Amino acid sequence: MIMWILTRVGVLLLDQLRVVFNINYLGGYMKKLLSNVRDVILNEDRLIIVLVLAEDCMEHETGLEHELRPMVESNEIPLRVLRVCFDANNMPWPRPMTECVYYFAPKKFNPLFLRTGLEAVRRFEDDIKIASKMMDGVSYDEASFDDEGVKLIDETEEMFDSESTKELPPTTKMLRNFAKDMWKSAKSAGKGLPVLVPAEIATERYTICEGCPKLTEEFRCTECGCFMKKKTQLAQSSCPIGKWSEFNKE
Ligand code: SF4
Repeated sequence: MIMWILTRVGVLLLDQLRVVFNINYLGGYMKKLLSNVRDVILNEDRLIIVLVLAEDCMEHETGLEHELRPMVESNEIPLRVLRVCFDANNMPWPRPMTECVYYFAPKKFNPLFLRTGLEAVRRFEDDIKIASKMMDGVSYDEASFDDEGVKLIDETEEMFDSESTKELPPTTKMLRNFAKDMWKSAKSAGKGLPVLVPAEIATERYTICEGCPKLTEEFRCTECGCFMKKKTQLAQSSCPIGKWSEFNKE
């Protein structure tokens, strides 16, 4: 850990924020944590990354730190890394079950966003770029997507807002909720946005599949192998034997 600090002085400063918890409720923990982090946020001009470590990390780096370290070291964006560490002998309650990474802009106490567990590692390189753009005041969507992506987000969210799923049969209503979840997780991933069809088109498609002998009880099509809960919602997909086609908005 010390090596890590020494090798990146000037670009990276890793603080040992040892938050030792001895008050048995969340409020006490939050107060201690926030007062330490707040001081740094107030006095820092760089992007601030707070690693909240859920396992004993007083003497050792955790799995999350180990994975992030090479990416932090090779990163070009000026940033400051803080670690919030729990002493195994004074574990807080409730104990954080998943390690996570918070991104903060200087002088702003609301985090820009956070990532948990392996997602924090997998997306780290993209996330520091996104967070760095957000420091200039742009939204998460604008920082994550190009103009086409932002347009797609606006159109899709408008579509969700304006559609009524009240009249849909229960199965397709459930599928539409699934599509919304799929959309939300793709959006938070920052790339690879799916283009979705309106609810009535997805319903039409799914109704055709339901009457098709190729559909299994697991909602999988034996012809293409796809899970139809997902495939019927995607604009670019089509039935492999021509029972329904790609959706063209034009
Ligand atoms: S995609 Fe086509 S072949 Fe597959 S279950 Fe649906 S209608 Fe049948």
